[in-house]
Amino acid sequence: MPFTTENVLQWIQRYAQEIHENNQYLTQLDSAIGDADHGANMDRGFKAVSAKLAGMENADIGTILKTVGTTLVSTVGGASGPLYGTAFLRAGTATSGKSELETTDILSMLEAATEGIRTRGKAQIGEKTMLDALYPALEAGKRAQAENASLSEVLQRMADGAEEGMKKTIPMLATKGRASYLGERSVDHQDPGATSSWLLLKSLAEVGKG
Ligand code: ADP
Ligand code: MG
Repeated sequence: MPFTTENVLQWIQRYAQEIHENNQYLTQLDSAIGDADHGANMDRGFKAVSAKLAGMENADIGTILKTVGTTLVSTVGGASGPLYGTAFLRAGTATSGKSELETTDILSMLEAATEGIRTRGKAQIGEKTMLDALYPALEAGKRAQAENASLSEVLQRMADGAEEGMKKTIPMLATKGRASYLGERSVDHQDPGATSSWLLLKSLAEVGKG
């Protein structure tokens, strides 16, 4: 079963809810190695996204994802707004005109989003950022596809890859973004952006299960 326009809307609305429920948690993670605003930034952005998506049932998937991107860019300050904004804009370009997504489309979408964050933020893997959850998710998805896993299994493996990547940010030294100002003191804390990226893929997998 492919992932439909309706599923994409469910994914984003579910993520908005997940972000709202984890607002405090994300803020707590960001207070350890940042400025304690990641939860608030994301919640503000996805509340605006949620309102924008009402009534978009007839739009194609690319248009929906691009709308998420422009809304995030205009409502979220800090590093995460332009980074997630770029990710969703690129994801929208990768899925332009589509009304359903197969495994290959989902992987192209995630690849475009990850690449968008990488070029915009100029971070490499291992610098303790959202990339450290997204990149392992993409790799896990590609491996699952190579093993002919079903779409819902691919999505679950992507979410598991992101979770593992997120946990691996704990011992990492931050060398990009605000957390890098702390130097060695950034070690032993889980990255807030990697955590919100895991939640994004977790929501995707949950919708994929039906
Ligand atoms: P700010 O750091 O401006 O307060 P947020 O708190 O909303 O913004 O987001 C912080 C998260 O942004 C970090 O946890 C990290 O995952 C991500 N981040 C910061 N800089 C970069 C970058 N250059 N590339 C990728 N991700 C980054
Ligand atoms: Mg912050």
